[in-house]
Amino acid sequence: MEYEVVIGLEVHVQLNTESKIFCSCSTRFESPPNTNICPVCCGYPGVLPVLNRKALELAVRVCLALNCRINKRIYFERKNYFYPDLPKNYQISQYKLPLGEGGYLNLPSGKSIRIKRIHLEEDAGKLIHQDTYSLIDFNRTGIPLLEIVTEPDINSPEEAFEYLNWLKLTIQYIDASTCDMEKGYLRCDVNISVREKGENTLGTKVELKNMNSFKGVRDALEYEAYRQIDCLKKSIPITQETRLWDDGKKKTFVMRRKEEAHDYRYFPEPDLVDFVIGEELIAKEREFIGELPLGKRERFIHNYSLTLKEVDILISQPKLADFFESAVNILNEPKHIANWLLGPFLECINSLKEGEEIKITPNNFAKIVKYFLDNKLNNLSAKRVLSLALLTDKDVDKIIQEEGLIQVSGEEELSIFVEGVIKDNPKAVGDFSQGKQEAIMFLVGQVMKKTKGKANPKVVREILERRLLK
Ligand code: ADP
Ligand code: ZN
Ligand code: MG
Repeated sequence: MEYEVVIGLEVHVQLNTESKIFCSCSTRFESPPNTNICPVCCGYPGVLPVLNRKALELAVRVCLALNCRINKRIYFERKNYFYPDLPKNYQISQYKLPLGEGGYLNLPSGKSIRIKRIHLEEDAGKLIHQDTYSLIDFNRTGIPLLEIVTEPDINSPEEAFEYLNWLKLTIQYIDASTCDMEKGYLRCDVNISVREKGENTLGTKVELKNMNSFKGVRDALEYEAYRQIDCLKKSIPITQETRLWDDGKKKTFVMRRKEEAHDYRYFPEPDLVDFVIGEELIAKEREFIGELPLGKRERFIHNYSLTLKEVDILISQPKLADFFESAVNILNEPKHIANWLLGPFLECINSLKEGEEIKITPNNFAKIVKYFLDNKLNNLSAKRVLSLALLTDKDVDKIIQEEGLIQVSGEEELSIFVEGVIKDNPKAVGDFSQGKQEAIMFLVGQVMKKTKGKANPKVVREILERRLLK
């Protein structure tokens, strides 16, 4: 028997706003506990929420980027439940009429995942459990969230992983959220069922919670698909339930069964008026959306002869992709620019200390690559110039001059060093004449050392060969 895995994802992202969704409290992550709070987000009696315009704009932007139909009439509903991190005892959310519906996200694999709905809501507070008591931080209460729900179109843990990566990148491209999972700016619940291949009706779904990385989601889904298929094989009924992923044990555990499911008693939020989103707002957000990651990926593949892996790394950070293209505009050597960016440049960036800011311009970067291609800087010196140029906007020519790094390629000048090295290393010279090819690399190395790394190794090798093979 063959089985099919069916997955639907519910992703929450925190929108990139300065203030909360219904009050003017700050959304700063670093603030001490319970300092970004007010009567509105703490649900005092008699207060009135006011919708944050920026949150709505960003939400509309995401809906457009994910090809959703926008419901222009906006209203909110109360989702009632009692929980310590929810001071009002209800969450303001959208239910019957979400902001966006009927969208899709295309993946590089060619598959299109349909987006069922996107709605705006407020976040709850954060519980910090200690040994015998719990602490509550209300700073997060009322932070704007967007919930993005897919149709059950995903058919493997790997595909869920791909969807999450592209969703995240798409949202980052349009500046709607940083999607920083470590800070909880992107959270994901997954629903999974299995069925026999060819079966039309969906199997009983299980909801998984508590994954804190995309890898965790993939692992949890793999475990759960395996567990459910095993149940089907043994004719054990699968119960609709919520399970928690334990990342240490690499297993899922039952958290609650369907019977315990909440009845949220949704009803329209009376404190927020209904209103209609204007065409101007939508037009403005549509204009903001530039090239999206998939489009950029296809264009890069088409325009530059790079490997898929190179393209994927370049487009994974909009800034890096822009830097690449600016540099290519100056020096039309995409392959070399990409090599230097993805190799030495990223290496330099990874070794930066906290607080150090990258200031190098694409122009300066292209110049370094050009010096290298013109044989004016050898590989070592070019890397050195790059590390010196990274944190300044000082001109590369000046740095090279100050450091005296211009490559020595002149035969005459190099011959003097070569003669010296031949004289000082009779053993290597002897080895080479007896056919030991490696010996010449040693001799080249000696010349490099004598010239403090400035010699052109190719020319040195030529001179040595000419001299010793006579
Ligand atoms: P609920 O009302 O229980 O929240 P929804 O219909 O809103 O269920 O679906 C929630 C998520 O679960 C969606 O992403 C949807 O695609 C997914 N889903 C629904 N049914 C199934 C199923 N049988 N198997 C896998 N995923 C499912
Ligand atoms: Zn507040
Ligand atoms: Mg639901």
